[in-house]
Amino acid sequence: MARAGSTYRAVHVVSPGKLELTDKPLLDPRPGHVRVRVEACGVCHSDSFTVEGGFPIEWPRVPGHEAVGRVDMVGAGAECWKVGQRVGIGFLGGSCGQCGRCRDGDLVNCRNQKITGVHHDGGYAEVVIAKANGLMSVPDDLSSVDAAPLLCAGLTTFSALRNVPAKAGDLVAVLGIGGLGHLGLQYARHMGFEVVAIGRGADKAELVRKLGAHHYIDNSADSPADALLALGGAAVVLATSSDGSAVADTVKGLRPGGVAIVLGAGPEPIEVTATDLLFGGRKIEGALTGTPATGDATLRFSVLSGVTPMIETMPLERAPEAYAKMMAGKARFRMVLTMV
Ligand SMILES: [Zn+2]
Ligand SMILES: [Zn+2]
Repeated sequence: MARAGSTYRAVHVVSPGKLELTDKPLLDPRPGHVRVRVEACGVCHSDSFTVEGGFPIEWPRVPGHEAVGRVDMVGAGAECWKVGQRVGIGFLGGSCGQCGRCRDGDLVNCRNQKITGVHHDGGYAEVVIAKANGLMSVPDDLSSVDAAPLLCAGLTTFSALRNVPAKAGDLVAVLGIGGLGHLGLQYARHMGFEVVAIGRGADKAELVRKLGAHHYIDNSADSPADALLALGGAAVVLATSSDGSAVADTVKGLRPGGVAIVLGAGPEPIEVTATDLLFGGRKIEGALTGTPATGDATLRFSVLSGVTPMIETMPLERAPEAYAKMMAGKARFRMVLTMV
């Protein structure tokens, strides 16, 4: 809990790469916002946009967009949320409701969307002030530490899989066995697909089967395209890896009409030839997280199906260590900061 008085603890970025523990003044929520006492916050690779200054940032800034906590004060016009209610705060800070995209029902691509931990302070903190219409509702059956990674890694994979052009029994491949991939495998299995995991190294075969994969392709030893075609061709490749060449290597393994959905943000281009796309009408597309309602569905579906993230927890003050471990690719599979 935040100490009695008018401050709370947070870990903020003071300059690129530099995270520091600090005390911040406790403020009341503005109209349309709520104040949340954070219980847990996942450490996502996209936090590097804040920590390394990949986006234009006003320093100092508190990163973190997988925050779970309880509402402790409700601002004017935000009365749909109650004091004591457990809520989730994700990557998208809340749509404006007024721009052309919002008026067309496309809340994710709202032109005035603010990003949590980039445009305003995020969840590496005991307290966050969040826009009410961006919040997600956390079911009682889900612990805060388990719910946290579902707010970005979970929502991103669940939302993408929910919208794929595939039916139960179709072949769906998940590329990359990490924070997103280990959840994507579980969701794909519980949605009724024949599931292929694609990762590096023979040592992952047993783990991916436990997560729900029917097949494993080691792309350091085999061509993923050939292996997918041997299974009949994938309707979908869910590309959670940020390695552009690894994504490109799967495209020829798509069945006609199949799609590779890019979820991992990396600087490397995805190089395919025109004929890779022309023959079979294959597609590559991107998907960015999801709406708050899809976030609610992600959390509910996770409870119903028993999908849980594999996590390692650390107290808030160890955020720099948790972040460094995630960036080194050593998290198995999600670092989660705890505040209580
Ligand atoms: Zn808008
Ligand atoms: Zn994220």
